[in-house]
Amino acid sequence: MFEQYKITYGFDALEPYMDAETVETHWGKHHVTYTTNFNKAVEDAGLTGKSVEEILGNLDAVADEAKRTALRNNGGGFYNHNLFFEELTPGGSKEPTGELADMINGTFGSFDELKEKMTALAIGQFGSGWAWLEKDAEGNLFVSKSGNQDNPISLGTGHTPILTIDVWEHAYYLKYKNLRPSYVEAIWNLINWDIVAAKYNS
Ligand code: MN
Repeated sequence: MFEQYKITYGFDALEPYMDAETVETHWGKHHVTYTTNFNKAVEDAGLTGKSVEEILGNLDAVADEAKRTALRNNGGGFYNHNLFFEELTPGGSKEPTGELADMINGTFGSFDELKEKMTALAIGQFGSGWAWLEKDAEGNLFVSKSGNQDNPISLGTGHTPILTIDVWEHAYYLKYKNLRPSYVEAIWNLINWDIVAAKYNS
């Protein structure tokens, strides 16, 4: 059984950047549903015992289209939200340090330029989706965006996500309504760069 990432902060702990009702609904309802439905889809496809990375990275091996779609959407929803809720922390806002900071500077020019690039991808994603910071096996960094619950693993990039921004309307609509750019600007105040660095270094 796959288990949803358990948040260690209260629903209201991410205020004012992310409101309590959004966290409660997003983590407590949406993420719960993806987790429940992913577990069902894994059982239906006979993939019990595989890791979520193995499943999302080998969707082509599932011949049945309905089962493959259920794994792709619910497995992505499970995985993406685990990363999203783990990387947030009350009063985040610290900057990357160490090897990750060096790689960000070398790849994007500066931390601010990384934020600008990811912000533009998040705002530019048409409809529901995600923006990503990801690494390859050699530790090179990349940014991208994806639609629906797709991610760099299910898209077969060979990259590992280390940071993500959820731009589904359920992630921001209660507080920010149609103003996705305001939400994306605000979320940089909540990122726990220690977690991102740990994922980069692992
Ligand atoms: Mn979401």
